[in-house]
Amino acid sequence: MQSVVRELSKKKTIGLVPTMGFLHDGHVSLIQKALKHSDIVITTIFVNPAQFAPNEDLDRYPRDEKGDIEKIKSAGGKIVFIPKASDIYPDNYQTYVEVGDLSQTLEGASRPSHFKGVTTIVAKLFNITRPDVVVFGLKDYQQAMVLKKMTHDLNYPIKFIIAPTVREKDGLAMSSRNKYFSPKQRPESLALYFALKTAKEMVKSDIKDTSQIKKEMKAVIQATCPTAQIDYIAFTDFNSLDPVKKIVKNTICSLAVRIHAVRLIDNMKLL
Ligand code: AMP
Repeated sequence: MQSVVRELSKKKTIGLVPTMGFLHDGHVSLIQKALKHSDIVITTIFVNPAQFAPNEDLDRYPRDEKGDIEKIKSAGGKIVFIPKASDIYPDNYQTYVEVGDLSQTLEGASRPSHFKGVTTIVAKLFNITRPDVVVFGLKDYQQAMVLKKMTHDLNYPIKFIIAPTVREKDGLAMSSRNKYFSPKQRPESLALYFALKTAKEMVKSDIKDTSQIKKEMKAVIQATCPTAQIDYIAFTDFNSLDPVKKIVKNTICSLAVRIHAVRLIDNMKLL
């Protein structure tokens, strides 16, 4: 990959879209976005063991290499990089990249060491593919902010683009993990979107107190999925991730909820 890129970059600008595979239209939108900002796009598929805790779904994470390659091709992607775990983390691997405070809250608090795995793999992918442009999804909002910080702090000369969340027709944010739901469970997965929409509507009608909004969101979640387990509902400043008590400009609401043992995340800018 490094020698391919060395030749390529003499004539073309390179876009990078890192993924864990089992691609959906959200991933496709990132490839299309990357193509608008670069000459050739490298899509990577790697289910990164370093970002999964031992109790998480590494072993059953859905995979479909053939289908993924078809989707990448039809999106206009020309290069796919699918390393093996042993290529990325050979025996006696010892080096990790970590971002400070930004990676400690929300997802970082619920999934310790998750972001350390994410920043390490993305730094490695940057070094392997030497992109001019990289595109990440707002769906994983905190991940995007942590990676943006890493890109800046480590002086990677890479244009960093965050692309909007692509949703199913009914509002569910597309995710490879949606495959885990049975048809009977699937409607309950809308709990997160319904809660976010409720928050947005409350803010529109001038309710700015986050504890009041949170209470209502919890009720919506329980009504949509009575067995849901809320991991967190957080209101933060979009850039700093600092908690916000009263909704002000640039407040984003993020949440993580377990729906029938599937941990989903979603977010929405409220103002
Ligand atoms: P993943 O394969 O889930 O690790 O995601 C790879 C990239 O796709 C990340 O930058 C995600 O934020 C992005 N992504 C995942 N779901 C969506 C979505 N529904 N809309 C837009 N981007 C997404």
